[in-house]
Amino acid sequence: PVRVRFAPSPTGYLHLGGLRTALFNYLLARKTGGKFLLRIEDTDRTRFVADSVDNLLSVLSWAGLSFDELDEGSGNNESPRLFYQSERTKIYKSHVDKLINDGNAYRCFCTLERLKEIRIKAQRSGKGVVYDRHCLHLSQKEIEQKLAQGIPFTIRLKTPNGVVIINDLVHGNVEFNDKHIDDAILLKSDGYPTYHLANVIDDHSMGITHVLRGEEWLSSTPKHIILYKLFGWELPNFVHLPLLLNTDKSKLSKRSGDINVEDFANKGYLPEALINFVALLGWSPVNSKNDVFTMEELISEFTLEHLGHSGTIVMREKLDWLNKQHILRKTESEGGLKDLVNLLKPSVNERFAEKLKSTKDKYRLEDEYLTNVITVMKDRIRNIKDIPELCEYFFIEPNYHLKDSRLLRKKIPDDVLKTISNLSLTKLNEFKDDELEFQVDKIKPMIQSIATQTGYKQNLIMMTLRYIITGIKVGAGVAETMKTIGKEACLKRINKVLA
Ligand code: GLU
Repeated sequence: PVRVRFAPSPTGYLHLGGLRTALFNYLLARKTGGKFLLRIEDTDRTRFVADSVDNLLSVLSWAGLSFDELDEGSGNNESPRLFYQSERTKIYKSHVDKLINDGNAYRCFCTLERLKEIRIKAQRSGKGVVYDRHCLHLSQKEIEQKLAQGIPFTIRLKTPNGVVIINDLVHGNVEFNDKHIDDAILLKSDGYPTYHLANVIDDHSMGITHVLRGEEWLSSTPKHIILYKLFGWELPNFVHLPLLLNTDKSKLSKRSGDINVEDFANKGYLPEALINFVALLGWSPVNSKNDVFTMEELISEFTLEHLGHSGTIVMREKLDWLNKQHILRKTESEGGLKDLVNLLKPSVNERFAEKLKSTKDKYRLEDEYLTNVITVMKDRIRNIKDIPELCEYFFIEPNYHLKDSRLLRKKIPDDVLKTISNLSLTKLNEFKDDELEFQVDKIKPMIQSIATQTGYKQNLIMMTLRYIITGIKVGAGVAETMKTIGKEACLKRINKVLA
């Protein structure tokens, strides 16, 4: 059975690239009935960011990615789903001792200054390998002396001679010559393992069958393969996911602007849309003509064979488009609508609660009304959180003094505004006070009758009514909008414009 893991380092908040790695692992596990495990690679104590694990957990659960429980005994006491490398230093140490005893690793006492010097030298001469194996050639006596003096040391892998071939499911066979593989540090002087050592030991001990990770790790993989071989362990399948690029083809990084998943969530993007967006970064469906997928659909469509191998450009416009598609899909089910309402609610409250709270319009803050607003606006919005700002008129009276409003007003001749307002007043008053009476199929004929009576063009009437009701020139259908805000509010707005 497939066993995959997501193995982030808690050095910052989860970004798009991390989410994609997690997602592809998740999809493979769910597709095959395998396990999706979480491992926190927190052995670099200098780059540790305290709340990054919390951010990771909350963001992944927002995105709908759930982890499986680790097998008994291998998890962390707090949670059967959380595995911290920092709690396993003894295990790493014992494996390194074995490598030393077998002559496959050695202590390195070189000072930082010396390492810096040889790095500069290597860079100048264009050599791929930096470390010159100075400490490999220390005699047993020299080693013992240094140990006795308490000189700090690291432990390095002695890279064996020969070519290492990575058989990658995306990139095919990739060859690395030992001349280009540095004697990697396995254990640091603080006793913590490096990424290479801990990663290999844990992938093995967790029984990982497929290592799916970003392409930036490809150059580390030869070191990992060497370690697997030295320990006598079977290799997992390697799958290096294509790099994510900005539109100018530079590598997507923190400097590329907002790439934190949390920011997308805060901006009101639906988790379904972001997941869909990220899924298409380096993977493409075969059986399907369209690009819109729910998580369930992704699980059934996903295969490793359809991963791309060249860098993939992150186009934000696509995310907006997908968000719109997922909004539409969600409005088709009761549960989906509820999700949308829950997303809209906080921003509506923030903007209007104070104003509406003690008025009889406070019902506009409630679920039922928000559902109506979303249903009316669903074809016109890319983001639910745009509603409070773009469609203020659903909640409070338009401010006719704003620039857009004044410009629109100028397009409407005074007598037209007056006639239409007066006629609508009369006609609206003919509606019974019953809410059920004030429906689109009755409002439309009313608007039609204004046209017949005045001979004004339909467009002019619509523009005028829209001005009165919303103060702006774009929006959903006029009749639908009037129905949503209600007869009384319509009357009030007409009177206001007439005054
Ligand atoms: N800790 C590494 C990271 O932060 C894991 C890479 C891997 O999956 O091997 O991405």
